[in-house]
Amino acid sequence: MKLCHFDIFEDRCLHAITQKNTTLPLRGSVALHTGEPQKKVLQNRQKLLKKLGVSDFDVVLANQTHSSNIIIIEQNESKGWDSGKSAIDDCDGLITNKKNILIGVMSADCVPILLYDDTRQVVAAIHAGWRGTRDGIITKAVDKMITAFGCRTSDIVAGIGPSIGVCCYEVGDDVGANFDDEFKVETSNGKYMLDLKRVNQNQLIKAGLKKESIEVLSLCTSCDNDKFFSFRKERGCSGRFLSIIGLR
Ligand SMILES: [Zn+2]
Repeated sequence: MKLCHFDIFEDRCLHAITQKNTTLPLRGSVALHTGEPQKKVLQNRQKLLKKLGVSDFDVVLANQTHSSNIIIIEQNESKGWDSGKSAIDDCDGLITNKKNILIGVMSADCVPILLYDDTRQVVAAIHAGWRGTRDGIITKAVDKMITAFGCRTSDIVAGIGPSIGVCCYEVGDDVGANFDDEFKVETSNGKYMLDLKRVNQNQLIKAGLKKESIEVLSLCTSCDNDKFFSFRKERGCSGRFLSIIGLR
């Protein structure tokens, strides 16, 4: 299992982003919801925990629906990990302050974002496609960390992960119209190249995070398709990669 990491979290919390890997079954996909053999997916998931050295951790995943729904995980119990059936339903953001549990989001072009508050010891994993970004899911996640756990925005550190970049994310006016001009470039054929990572980065800064507390990986799922799954580049691939975070 190949992994990549954000520098900004240092060693203070456990986190990882899984990469594509042609030596693994299903190229290392960890998605149970895309119709691939469950057993192989579960094997890949076990390899991930083993590589992180936390085979005893619980893991919680959601049935992501491009919503802006966020759930706080209050119990040390795996959900959506050994079987898709137990995943948290209709949810695109997870937050927890429990130790020995990993929370994660799956993606293949959408923006995965991990948040960490070192002082209050709270982590969050957010899936932000264009709909979630339009609906301000990352702002809602920060708000929830503040109201539920007393986090301060000056303590929150964020990692914005690999997603389809402004280089490759062409959208029509139906999508583009939802975002300010500063985040999109109009193309000669009347479409837009949209920078979803930067919209989310901007929302985090507006929420009160320090600019230097946000790391944005420049990796593009389409350009860097050898490392990450891209639904667009692969024309509807079944693979997904996982961005995961937790407290020891
Ligand atoms: Zn690209």
